[in-house]
Amino acid sequence: MRLVILGGGESGVGTALLGKKEGYEVFVSDFGSISEKYQQVLIQNEIDWEQQQHTEDKIVNADVVVKSPGIPDKAPIVKKLREKGVKVISEIEFVYSFAKNTSVAITGSNGKTTTTLLTYHLLKQGGLDVGLAGNIGESYAKQVAVDPEKLFVLELSSFQLDGNINYKPHIAVITNISPDHLDRYDYKYENYIASKFRITMNQTSEDYLIYDADDQAINNWLKNNKTKAQLVPFSLTKTVENGAYLKDNNIIAMINNEEITIPVNEIAIEGKHNVKNAMAATLVAQMMRVRKQTIRESLSNFQNAEHRLEKVAKINKVQYINDSKATNVNATYFALESMTAPTVWIVGGIDKGNDYDELMSFVHEKVKAIICLGIDNTKIINAFSPIIDVIVEASSMQEAVKLAASAAEEGDTVLLSPACASFDLFSSYEERGTQFKNEVHKL
Ligand code: ADP
Repeated sequence: MRLVILGGGESGVGTALLGKKEGYEVFVSDFGSISEKYQQVLIQNEIDWEQQQHTEDKIVNADVVVKSPGIPDKAPIVKKLREKGVKVISEIEFVYSFAKNTSVAITGSNGKTTTTLLTYHLLKQGGLDVGLAGNIGESYAKQVAVDPEKLFVLELSSFQLDGNINYKPHIAVITNISPDHLDRYDYKYENYIASKFRITMNQTSEDYLIYDADDQAINNWLKNNKTKAQLVPFSLTKTVENGAYLKDNNIIAMINNEEITIPVNEIAIEGKHNVKNAMAATLVAQMMRVRKQTIRESLSNFQNAEHRLEKVAKINKVQYINDSKATNVNATYFALESMTAPTVWIVGGIDKGNDYDELMSFVHEKVKAIICLGIDNTKIINAFSPIIDVIVEASSMQEAVKLAASAAEEGDTVLLSPACASFDLFSSYEERGTQFKNEVHKL
């Protein structure tokens, strides 16, 4: 069997290793360049590869092609493969036939990484032999090649879900859905929503779908479509039966008549959105029979990944918070929602068709000054100048932090929560967040 892999990054090279182990003849092709580190791995494992090109003859004769989620369906090579009837799948789909244990899969527009890390933390503290993969850390394929018996918690993007055919998680989580990445979905929101729900398409009545019952897009889909999985809702606004809800500032999570109560103020990560993420992770942990006391303790000692409402420093009694990962309006909505002090807000970058209306009331209530940090700030200025007096523009992170520091007074918060992609001034959201932290430390 010939396995061709398009894309020679972490996921592609990991898939190559698993394919080789399982006896495939493997070829890796990357239209860009493959990093030195991965080239070495391919050479050491005697795996054939190419970069800066896709040699059609070596690709179209594949029995199966695993495509990196970054390569769109519209790419000429993918079109050609589909025309020829070659099976083009995701890494997750490929691994599915070799993994011996079930998996927990987490998707959503926001909160995937936080919920995945938190779930992993809860299960690990609960003593389970658990791994972390998908959109995060080491490739799933590589890890399954080493240990096929392990239970994995997978973070799945909609692009990864698009390449799945038979894959089914035992427990699926949809954290929420709001418009994102529409350029890959013919600018149709319903296509993006359908892509997220692919997470449950092969589930049976023995499986579970945990979801945000306050989310309009999710509720609409569930009203008009069917899943065989058992539905497990969580909600901040209503009482639910088999699922999680809020009562007197406690999370009550109930699965199969087993109930756990968790005071919200014990949860290490702040903000309403993180209460939702904690509900989802708690429900998974309960299903996996982690002890109540362990769940409670683990929620209180969890440390989230960088750039997500990360407290950086307190300088002259001003708190600086890095939320660079907020690359869309919905993520920034929850950041502003969780602000408890007057806020100087650093916002801007590449606009993804943002609608700032939903932020208006929080901005009105909490924001005292806006620092715009993007190539084109017109839309932000037009949106907020009717309600905010101080709106200034910065052309670098250094300037933005200095302006923010001078606008802030004792007791205030400076929040970087851009609501936009970072690629106008930075190479990634990580670089944007790191520059912010460096500039704050220079103060
Ligand atoms: P993802 O992996 O889906 O991008 P992250 O956990 O990395 O999600 O968080 C991305 C951004 O969204 C951060 O700014 C974070 O504070 C915010 N966020 C986290 N969880 C949620 C949620 N449940 N709803 C809305 N925003 C969230």
